[in-house]
Amino acid sequence: MLIDSHCHLDFPELAADRDGVLARARDAGIDGMVTICTWVDKFDSIRAISEEHAEVWCSVGTHPHNADQELHIETADLVRLSAHPRCIAIGEAGIDFFYDNAPRAAQETGLRRHIAAARITGLPLVIHSRSADEEMGQILEEEVGQGPFPFVLHCYTGGLDLARTALALGGYISFSGIITFKNAETIREVCRMVPADRYLVETDAPYLAPVPHRGQSNEPAFVRHTAETVAAIRGVSLAEVGVETTANFYRLFRKAQSS
Ligand SMILES: [Zn+2]
Ligand SMILES: [Zn+2]
Repeated sequence: MLIDSHCHLDFPELAADRDGVLARARDAGIDGMVTICTWVDKFDSIRAISEEHAEVWCSVGTHPHNADQELHIETADLVRLSAHPRCIAIGEAGIDFFYDNAPRAAQETGLRRHIAAARITGLPLVIHSRSADEEMGQILEEEVGQGPFPFVLHCYTGGLDLARTALALGGYISFSGIITFKNAETIREVCRMVPADRYLVETDAPYLAPVPHRGQSNEPAFVRHTAETVAAIRGVSLAEVGVETTANFYRLFRKAQSS
């Protein structure tokens, strides 16, 4: 029993065969998933997926790549839209200095609006952070200092310092298929040190398919390979990873308990 805490069922690679994707997830023992919003302006279609399928929840937010195109989205909009019963998280928002697809100032403005929405609603913020460890650590320390909010650093690719900072601030860390890649030793180190009650697994599908599916389109069923790798790294059974990550998921995404 596993939950894919982060996927994008609205993206064309997965939308084209959604029933097949969901059936294969069920067969693989994946009994829940969160389809993550990347454009608030497309939230209606994401919400609709979660309304149609009992095992799919959704989030609301603007991906940092799109931050400059959704500067009209205010904290109040995120708060209002997240009141939908199937919407259990804010995001994904954050900063991505690897691609730098949007100006950095717009990414940071967006992130801070999403943080405010997480603080107001108590819903967890799904954070995307890439090649921005120092800046992300600073923003999190500053913002949590102004008032706590639940959060997860999704698809973790940062170093040990950012992981320690996030954990000290009460955050969670989510591992994707990247952890199965050969050159991901730092992420495996993070995986070894993260407490049993603070980690999640995800696919970030359709991207980043884990070994042995690397290069293919990713889908929620493949989260099992990531969980197997995490189990091997932590020296526990796959079943234990399932129990721990499911408990962690419902503790962090607590609205999922009732929706
Ligand atoms: Zn992301
Ligand atoms: Zn994503």
